[in-house]
Amino acid sequence: MQTQPTSETKKNSETIDLTMQLIKRPSISPEDAGCQEILIDRLSKIGFDVERLKFGSTSNFWATHGSGAPILAFLGHTDVVPTGPWEEWQSPPFEPRIKDGHLYGRGAADMKSGIAAFLTAVERFLKAGNNEHKGTIAFIITSDEEASAVDGTIKVIEHLSNKGIRIDYGLVGEPSSQHTVGDTIKNGRRGSLTCALKIIGQQGHVAYPEKADNPIHKAMKALDELVSTRWDEGDQFFPPTSLQISNINGGTGADNVIPGSMDVLFNFRFSTEQTEAILKQKVHEILDRHKLNYEAKWRLSGHPFLTSQGKLLETIMAATREVTGKEPRPSTEGGTSDGRFLAPTGAEVVELGVINATIHKVNENVSIADVDTLSAIYERILELIFAGQ
Ligand SMILES: [Zn+2]
Repeated sequence: MQTQPTSETKKNSETIDLTMQLIKRPSISPEDAGCQEILIDRLSKIGFDVERLKFGSTSNFWATHGSGAPILAFLGHTDVVPTGPWEEWQSPPFEPRIKDGHLYGRGAADMKSGIAAFLTAVERFLKAGNNEHKGTIAFIITSDEEASAVDGTIKVIEHLSNKGIRIDYGLVGEPSSQHTVGDTIKNGRRGSLTCALKIIGQQGHVAYPEKADNPIHKAMKALDELVSTRWDEGDQFFPPTSLQISNINGGTGADNVIPGSMDVLFNFRFSTEQTEAILKQKVHEILDRHKLNYEAKWRLSGHPFLTSQGKLLETIMAATREVTGKEPRPSTEGGTSDGRFLAPTGAEVVELGVINATIHKVNENVSIADVDTLSAIYERILELIFAGQ
């Protein structure tokens, strides 16, 4: 009997190999766990100048190839969110595993594959005779995107601004796609504004309400008005502004005590049609109309931004169309990203990455074919911007 030929294991692409190397590093935010040194090593070999930028305990770097304008910077993060319960993972989260055409591991989609896809795209682009390209190809890599984001991209951009470096195009490699890779690109993000509201009353016995002032009763009508207010209608790029109450805390736990105060936490997601100042003013008007005694602490965690047109958006749309054969949909849905720190400098900012279905979940995974497609799109973007091909 003849022996069966052993089936040849298909060799992974350079991009998948690099993604797997990165997944092996348990870089739970804000740890980098050595991911950036792997990237720096690869970039140095192809002629990038690398500046390591450590702020607090956060590792970041800025790397450039070429000189002058235009500067296209790829934005990415090496940190990942915590794994969640290990027993719910089919394979250990920091041991990359390929199964049925998908690569599993924490950070597989968000966003180690995105970083790897851009890095190998640059390698192929330079190797194809483009070492003397016009302009500057750059990387801004942080390990503090998923956590507080205070010592990451925001500080790197501050540092670059102080040196007079102005980025023209920001390509964010966050997982933007919905069902197929490249079907959705993010050309803007809503702003995020949070209010910690304390409504103050007077504590007392429930049997003597006339001697107390119940902050819960007083707050209810005002909160109802806050959640039923139509803040705006949105526009062609943004859905209407939304206000969501995320926490309400009040009461002592006893059934016979009127509490002295209650706490409410709510968050606005708002478009470029709105401003932080107007939203605050409208909220204060409502609270004042209901004659509440309150303290409001506001925190703006992201300005809204929109790239409605421009060279980067056009180029990314064209490259995606060419590689996937499908028309990508620009969208401003979803949470914030580090693009919020770059957009205020005047850079065009667009996000394009893999499918986001499993990000932050257990058994996070990415389609291997998608990662290779993404890398091909990135390479085409480089050609269109830097080689004029
Ligand atoms: Zn991410």
